[in-house]
Amino acid sequence: MLKLKKLVKTYATGDQALKSIELEVPEGQVLALIGPSGAGKSTLIRCINRLVEPTSGEVWLGDTELTKLNSSGLRRARREMGMIFQEYALVERLTVMENVLSGRLGYVGFWRSLTRRFPQSDVDEAFRLLDRVGLLAMADKRADELSGGQRQRVGICRALIQNPKLLLVDEPTASLDPKTSRQIMRLICELCAERGLAAIINIHDVALAQMFVQRVVGLRFGAVEFDGPPEALVPDV
Ligand code: ADP
Ligand code: ADP
Repeated sequence: MLKLKKLVKTYATGDQALKSIELEVPEGQVLALIGPSGAGKSTLIRCINRLVEPTSGEVWLGDTELTKLNSSGLRRARREMGMIFQEYALVERLTVMENVLSGRLGYVGFWRSLTRRFPQSDVDEAFRLLDRVGLLAMADKRADELSGGQRQRVGICRALIQNPKLLLVDEPTASLDPKTSRQIMRLICELCAERGLAAIINIHDVALAQMFVQRVVGLRFGAVEFDGPPEALVPDV
């Protein structure tokens, strides 16, 4: 479903963040991307939806070559890729409900959620999602009243309301305590299973990855150095 071919990213600074990555993710598969800081995990995730422009190589989502799209094509394709961030990236002064609904607008339209009226079907779906993640009672609270774990649940709902094919998840638990981290990872993985959604989760906590996913890809110095089931990982990766 997702295919990376000879994907290279060299930053203007000369940093070779990705050196010819080959990767295939089948439909419905949840994959953890691990590796030390600076290995290229964030760059890899961001090259997929072109928040970072790859230097060369191809990214395919189904039959679409994302690396060939112009800006309007890219906008459309990004609707099929939900993104979840380490620092949640909520709009603090909007409510939980408004933040979730903003997922219907894609990346650029975010601020329009203040004025735009959403169809009832979107509002219903937002309530369903909030209920599923245990935040129904918080729908009218402002984002800045929430705890970190609650914010990430909102971030998850905002990504899912896009009805994406693929979730790109960048260090979802890096700002959370260990117990909340486990809850958030479990929630993301359960939701992917429920919806048959593929996901790439950038996570530097190997133990956490091992708890919840069947496939781990280890990056080091911009290259894949491990790809397999978590039980095949040697303890020191
Ligand atoms: P992590 O190691 O957790 O991925 P970093 O501290 O490497 O986080 O990066 C934090 C942010 O700074 C990211 O948005 C990344 O793109 C950016 N960044 C990282 N390294 C550089 C660099 N050498 N020059 C400019 N920006 C960088
Ligand atoms: P990770 O997510 O595994 O910590 P990153 O993708 O953030 O790794 O970084 C990979 C490499 O690319 C690092 O050497 C980092 O310094 C560099 N890098 C990341 N973002 C930038 C940027 N915006 N500008 C220049 N170099 C960057």
